[in-house]
Amino acid sequence: MSIFEKIIAREIPATIIYQDDDVIAFNDIDPKAPVHIVIATIKPIPTLNDLAESDATLMGKMILVARHIAASEGIEKNGYRIVFNCNRDGGQSVFHIHCHLLGGRQMDWPPG
Ligand code: 5GP
Repeated sequence: MSIFEKIIAREIPATIIYQDDDVIAFNDIDPKAPVHIVIATIKPIPTLNDLAESDATLMGKMILVARHIAASEGIEKNGYRIVFNCNRDGGQSVFHIHCHLLGGRQMDWPPG
C-alpha cells in the first residue's frame, strides 16, 4: 500500500484540500514552494507508464482540479507549475500517480 493510499484511507494524517471520487489533494509534507499541493488519483496507478487509454478523462480531471485549487490558493494570476515525476530519472519517490501544484514564488527553468 503506497503512502498516498494510507492518506486516502485516513491511516496517516494529511492536510486535505480537496477530495472527490476520483482525486485527492493535500499539502506536501516537504513543501518546495509556498504553495505545494499533491493531487493524486484515488485509484492506485503506480506511474505514468501504467496509464490506460481509459484513464484519459481521469488525468484531464487532475489538471482541472489543480487549476481550481490554484485559483482558490490565489496563485492563478501570477502563475504556477504542475509537475508529474516518472520513475528514477523523473525523481518519482511515491509510486502512486500524482502531480505537484507549485506556486507562490518564481520557478526556475530548467528544473533541477
Ligand atoms: P514524487 O517525488 O513521487 O514526485 O512526490 C512525492 C511527494 O510526496 C514528495 O514531494 C513528498 O514530499 C510527498 N510525501 C511523501 N510522503 C508524504 C506524506 O506522508 N505526507 C504528505 N503530505 N506528503 C508526502
